[in-house]
Amino acid sequence: MNKKKLSVTLIVLGFIVFQFTFNTQAQDIANNQTINNSNTQNNLSALNKHVFNPLPYAYDALEPYIDKQTMEIHYSKHHKAYYDNFMNAIKGTEMETMDITEIFKNISKYPVAVRNNSGGYYNHTFFWEGMKPKSDIMPNSKLTEAITKTFSSFEEFKKQFSEAGKTRFGSGWAWLSIDNEGNMFIYSTPNQDNPLMDISEKKGIPLLALDVWEHAYYLKYQNKRADYIEAFWNVVNWAEVSKRYENALKSLDSR
Ligand code: MN
Repeated sequence: MNKKKLSVTLIVLGFIVFQFTFNTQAQDIANNQTINNSNTQNNLSALNKHVFNPLPYAYDALEPYIDKQTMEIHYSKHHKAYYDNFMNAIKGTEMETMDITEIFKNISKYPVAVRNNSGGYYNHTFFWEGMKPKSDIMPNSKLTEAITKTFSSFEEFKKQFSEAGKTRFGSGWAWLSIDNEGNMFIYSTPNQDNPLMDISEKKGIPLLALDVWEHAYYLKYQNKRADYIEAFWNVVNWAEVSKRYENALKSLDSR
C-alpha cells in the first residue's frame, strides 16, 4: 500500500468511526428523551394501566410540612399494600384490563376488597401528584377565577376544604371536584372512597385531594389533624391542579 492509499484508507476509516460514534450518541439522546417523556407522562393515565407510579419526589422533599419518615411509610408501605391488594383482588377478572375509572363507575357491583384497594391505590397516586416541594402561590387564572366564583374568595375555599378534612369522622379524604355541569364542590369521603365511585353520594371529577387518615400525619402531628391540614397548603401543586381542571372541563365538553 502506498502512502496516498494509506491516508485515504485512514480518512475513510476515521469517517466510519465518527459516523458510528455520532449515531450511537444520537441514539442515546433519543433514548434519554424517550425516558424523559415517559417521566413527564408519569401521570394519572398510568393508573388506567394499573401501574404503581414512583413517588414524583424524594421522601424528604416535602419537609418540613410532611416529614420524611411519614412519607416513606405512607408510600412504600400503605400505598404499596393497597396496590398489591388491588392487583390480587382483580386477578383473573374482567377488571384486569379495565380502566380504573370504569371500575369506579361500577364499584358497587364488585367485592368490597376491590372498592377499598382500588380507592387506596388511585387516591394516593392522585394525592402525591397533587403536591410538590415548593408550592406555587396561586393556581392559574382560570382555576383561581372558578374557585373565587364558587366560594366567594380563595381564602374561603381553603377554609371550607380544610373544614371538610377536619370534620371527616374517622378516616377518609377531602376533595375539590367538579360535577357533570362543571360546577366546583368540596366533599369528603370515608375510608378510601372517592367522588368517581358510583357509591359516592356526590359524584364528580376530582381536582385536589387530601388524605386525612391518621397514618398521613400521626408521626409528626400526633392528634393535631388541623395543623397537618394547615401545612398541606404549603405543598399543593397548583400547576397540576390547574391542569386537572382544564382536562376535566375538556372531558365534559367532549361528552
Ligand atoms: Mn394514606
